[in-house]
Amino acid sequence: MKLFFSTKNITSLRLISQTLFAAFCLVVGFQFYQFYLWATNVSEQVSQRPPAVEAFLPIGALVSLKRLILSGEYDTLHPAGLTIFLAALFLGLFLRKGFCGWICPVGLASNLAEKIGKKMHTLVHVPSWIDLPLLSVKYLLLGFFSWLILWNMNLQELTSFHYSSYNMISDAKMLHFFLEPSLLAGSIMLALLAFSFVVKNMWCRYLCPYGALLGLLAIFSPFQIKRDQHLCIDCKKCEAACPASIKITARRTVRNSECIGCLECLPVCPQKECLQLTLPKKVTPPLLLPTLIISSFLIFWLVARMSGHWQSQVPPETFRHYYQQVQSIGHP
Ligand code: SF4
Ligand code: SF4
Ligand code: SF4
Repeated sequence: MKLFFSTKNITSLRLISQTLFAAFCLVVGFQFYQFYLWATNVSEQVSQRPPAVEAFLPIGALVSLKRLILSGEYDTLHPAGLTIFLAALFLGLFLRKGFCGWICPVGLASNLAEKIGKKMHTLVHVPSWIDLPLLSVKYLLLGFFSWLILWNMNLQELTSFHYSSYNMISDAKMLHFFLEPSLLAGSIMLALLAFSFVVKNMWCRYLCPYGALLGLLAIFSPFQIKRDQHLCIDCKKCEAACPASIKITARRTVRNSECIGCLECLPVCPQKECLQLTLPKKVTPPLLLPTLIISSFLIFWLVARMSGHWQSQVPPETFRHYYQQVQSIGHP
């Protein structure tokens, strides 16, 4: 037991999970690029459009979710996007921000940037008087999108957006944005990249509205990290290991919306049974959380595939027709 839950093993296990999902995303990105080249007549090699690319369309997924609630109609244009969004919400509600801690490739990139920043001595300490206001930015972004979609759009507007040519090519638009960014967009991306080596976990901690939403749901998650203050020797090793910079020693229960359920704080604690993963009134084996996170996510994927909620109903030729207008089609 002790051997299995060494720091190295928890960290390695998480790294393996994150790396596998990141590798999968790279393959999906490459397949989508090939499909894009075929659809825009740059290449003659016919390629399949990978449904998982829709994971990168969270705004469209939010529209689809509200449309699903109001009309009962599942998105047939980007069903995989909605399925992945629902899976992430499920994880947030029941399994902390497990999507961030164990699955999202941007989380892995953020961790890597932090490690490089540490090695290059470029990371700076963000004082709390800056940290706290910055923490609100992602909630403001989430509030803005929620106001725009959940509050403002009625079923007719949602359906009109859903069937718009813009929504049809939103994945191609995204790719085009990264392949040929405007000067302003390119500069912002470069600045964000550079700052990732200076500010720990910058994108996830301060800017990602997706993470903000999962964090709000995670407050209600039954899984929690509990600290026994009588056993704690205040060595702060847990805080040093925490990628989410949570002040673990300031609380007995980590119910923080920033906690990504990574479990990296557990094995570094030198005091036996001082820090533990718990369900209500019950200590639980740490491995249960990542097992449930990864298996639940895969179950969503499997059920969606088997029930026809994964593959888009739009024929490749129709995508092709619209992709060829990627530069001229604007937001409705
Ligand atoms: S905060 Fe956003 S980018 Fe970061 S790991 Fe979570 S979902 Fe991914
Ligand atoms: S409190 Fe523990 S489980 Fe939560 S983010 Fe920090 S290290 Fe990970
Ligand atoms: S690592 Fe354990 S003993 Fe040290 S401060 Fe954290 S909870 Fe307390």
